[in-house]
Amino acid sequence: MNEQKRCWAEISPANILHNYRALRAAIPEGCRFLGVVKADAYGHGALETAQLLEDAGADYLAVACLDEALELRRGGITMPILILGHTPGTYTKALAEHNITQAVTGIQEAEAFSAEALRLGTTLRVHMAVDTGMSRIGFLCTGRDYERGTAELIRACGLPGLEVEGVFTHFAVSDEAGEENERYTREQYRVFLAVIEAAEAAGVSFKIRHCANTGAVLHYMPEFALDMARPGLLLYGYGDDEGKLGLRPCMRLVTRVLTVKRYAPGTTVSYGRRFTTERETRMGVLGVGYADGLPRLSSNKCAYSVGGGFAPQRGSICMDMCMVDLTDLPDVKAGDEVEIFGAESDLNAISRAAQTIPYELLCAVSKRVPRVVKNF
Ligand SMILES: *Cc1c(COP(=O)(O)O)cnc(C)c1O
Repeated sequence: MNEQKRCWAEISPANILHNYRALRAAIPEGCRFLGVVKADAYGHGALETAQLLEDAGADYLAVACLDEALELRRGGITMPILILGHTPGTYTKALAEHNITQAVTGIQEAEAFSAEALRLGTTLRVHMAVDTGMSRIGFLCTGRDYERGTAELIRACGLPGLEVEGVFTHFAVSDEAGEENERYTREQYRVFLAVIEAAEAAGVSFKIRHCANTGAVLHYMPEFALDMARPGLLLYGYGDDEGKLGLRPCMRLVTRVLTVKRYAPGTTVSYGRRFTTERETRMGVLGVGYADGLPRLSSNKCAYSVGGGFAPQRGSICMDMCMVDLTDLPDVKAGDEVEIFGAESDLNAISRAAQTIPYELLCAVSKRVPRVVKNF
């Protein structure tokens, strides 16, 4: 390891592969596997992760937008790629040229893609997005909008220039416990099946029906498998709170102790003076801060793994540094590696402290943090 690095992220291809295989084993035989690699594969490196999944035999990849899809195609990824988010109809040429599958989010969008595909003399492969209660994108098919939404979706499926390969929906609370959340998720699923049934009765057929995100893979398998599972977070080792799938974290955020100093009792530490030493304290300065993705909201609340123990973080987290109490870890010295999260330090603990979710923290590991391939 480069001694000069102040902060880096180790990415373990072996653990991504382990998780992929564990997830494959958790979904029914014959169910396709789509790996969600949007947002740079949740910070793990989109192209590297996509290559890994392609080699491992995954069926599909998903990204959020055209630029992310093009990054994969330019990097040599040839397997099917689905854009889950909105792409303007004006990009139909790029989508078709690069053999990218596009989500269709409504009737106007469908018409725009169709018109542009016809004009270009090409065909765009699409998956119809059904809004069954997420209230985000897709044909709105809930409650009073069921009839109209379903009719629009059926009409969209018949538009020229579109090759309708799939249909999907997205759950709002499939990852949250409790009766009401389960009722809501099952209602979303019921609506999804009803829409599919109505479309099929109207002569539309979908080769790939999919809905199983992380929450559904964990809590509604094999029931919600349909033709394809679509997990993101689980692939990277999080979301499996009870550890029932035996998934492994795939990223270690690592920094170093830059310097160590001793402070008298009663010394205040960092911006805002939000920590005061109560004893003679050996304080280490770490080369990681909020500009690297460590949430400032977790200041004074977490402990990081170093030298076989855990060093409590003290005072406000700065942009490029933060302080840790090393008094009880007398052997730890400047230059030593500290794991912020990954194998020993728990990302979930930082997430809770920062009142957020592991998704946000993985995505927040910033561009200036070099990704290093290292199996751990
Ligand atoms: C991001 C996303 C996923 C993956 O979600 P996870 O909770 O990470 O499994 C699946 N489907 C859609 C539509 C998404 O936007």
